[in-house]
Amino acid sequence: MKTGLYGGTFDPIHNGHIKVVQAARNFLQLDRIIFIPAGDPPHKAGKQITAKEHRLAMVQTVAEQVEAQVSDWELLKQEKSYSVETVRHFQAEYPDDEIYFIIGADSFYDLPTWWHYEELMALCNFAVVSRPDYARDILLSKFKGNEKPPRVFFLDDIFVDISSTEIRERVAAGKNISKLVPPEVAAYIEQHHLYQ
Ligand code: ATP
Ligand code: MG
Repeated sequence: MKTGLYGGTFDPIHNGHIKVVQAARNFLQLDRIIFIPAGDPPHKAGKQITAKEHRLAMVQTVAEQVEAQVSDWELLKQEKSYSVETVRHFQAEYPDDEIYFIIGADSFYDLPTWWHYEELMALCNFAVVSRPDYARDILLSKFKGNEKPPRVFFLDDIFVDISSTEIRERVAAGKNISKLVPPEVAAYIEQHHLYQ
């Protein structure tokens, strides 16, 4: 079986994330996709992140709609979560599966700065989704010096220029977000006065 792991802060989850899941499933014929909301993401240290409960609740709503699973494995961890440990965990859970790490091009660009990234590259395939300003050749040039380059599948056919940052800013400015998130997520944000 092919399992896709899709980690993120999901603060909040948005239509871009949904498109990513659909594209990864279709192009790579994934049998299951697991959203993994981040607990205390090392790369966002110092930034203010919305409470886990809220982020998880919004991810769960969307996961149901796209028939994906949600794992609270990183959320429940007390210490920082590193992707290499997360992938190891799921590889142990599904020993016969081929793991695909689903990631936006912006995050993939930073991969060489991640903790034990070479071990991570050896553990899984990468499904890399286009984001503005990150062309294929720019991304691959990052790994020229590596003995074993990452196994990358580029999902270039989808392109959704939406980010959680934009959504948080729009909500704070009192602007409409109905084209950026599913109705249930918009309602949740309003109900819980998030991003004000
Ligand atoms: P923020 O603006 O807060 O960084 P984000 O929109 O990038 O939020 P994350 O939770 O950081 O959302 O994203 C999780 C993963 O999904 C990352 O790998 C990111 O690159 C990817 N991703 C997010 N939005 C998109 C999008 N519109 N298209 C493709 N990939 C995306
Ligand atoms: Mg991001």
